[in-house]
Amino acid sequence: MKKIQFNDVFKSYEDNQILKTIDFSVERGEAFVIVGPSGSGKSTILNLIAGLIKPDSGEIIMEGRAVTHESPKTRNVSFVFQDFALYPHMSVYNNIAFALKSKRMNKTDINTRVDTIAKKLHIEKLLKRYPNELSGGQKQRVALARALATEADIILMDEPLSSLDTDLRLKLREELKVFHKENNTTLIFVTHDQTEAMTLADRIMIINNGTIEQIGTPREIYLEPMTPFVGKFIGTPKMNLFKNDVGTLFGIRPQHIKISDSHLGEPVVITSIDYLGQENWVHFEYDAHPFVLVTTRVDLEVGQTIHITMDESNIATFN
Ligand code: ADP
Ligand code: MG
Repeated sequence: MKKIQFNDVFKSYEDNQILKTIDFSVERGEAFVIVGPSGSGKSTILNLIAGLIKPDSGEIIMEGRAVTHESPKTRNVSFVFQDFALYPHMSVYNNIAFALKSKRMNKTDINTRVDTIAKKLHIEKLLKRYPNELSGGQKQRVALARALATEADIILMDEPLSSLDTDLRLKLREELKVFHKENNTTLIFVTHDQTEAMTLADRIMIINNGTIEQIGTPREIYLEPMTPFVGKFIGTPKMNLFKNDVGTLFGIRPQHIKISDSHLGEPVVITSIDYLGQENWVHFEYDAHPFVLVTTRVDLEVGQTIHITMDESNIATFN
């Protein structure tokens, strides 16, 4: 049975169509990541799942039951917002325990639950502190702990790591992944960061302008992008797009263009090179299109002619 299902869900604000009749489902226990540019409708989807807003039409089904018009309370969903806010006048302990107390859980059970989750998120030594005595990263851990402690059926996270610096983001991402594997909750995680999406997801849904571009595993999304948007949105540097004489659009990833040692292959002239250290991006023009390839070679120079080959199996065709 599907855990969450959107059937023809449409949402507008006045004249603006925010979600244009979308259909998708999230499996029980899945880490489902929604990724897309700012303003594409990601937060709107989470708000619909949580019941904070209602669709204009269509149905939202949870475990086979239509919850479309039900209040948030009946859904057993916990939500970590992008602008997470801790209760400033409460200790870390009470911040985490708050939702449990309002569920009338007994004191001993609350204690155990808070201790367990605090250890998992490495904040067990901070339980007596107040939010203004915490760093940004510690606050974010507390916000995550608060959401995870409720042991909701469904956990929604709206760009919860975006305000953290790179190291911390990476660390929390890995911890979240482990946590999800251990607990098997349904996690719906929103981000605009493709790396975050690729590393965290069982499946990714790419959304653009209120429509679903593609749903698939990270591997499928990378190797078999179904639209030019997906090809360009996932992968760094962006997928090269080019047209043939008939006007059909093709795409090839910069990682899949090889520099040939012999003079077999197409001659192209290097226009610029970005040295990233672990890899280098070599820019050139191909068939009057700007192209880029990725190589570990460091012996190349701007103005040099190289010969490139592309394996047909790596070329995506878009209709
Ligand atoms: P994302 O989370 O992908 O950045 P959102 O789902 O927050 O995007 O918003 C999608 C679009 O809906 C945006 O254009 C936004 O301005 C608009 N929008 C969101 N909430 C409201 C609202 N309450 N009233 C009017 N427009 C809204
Ligand atoms: Mg958002």
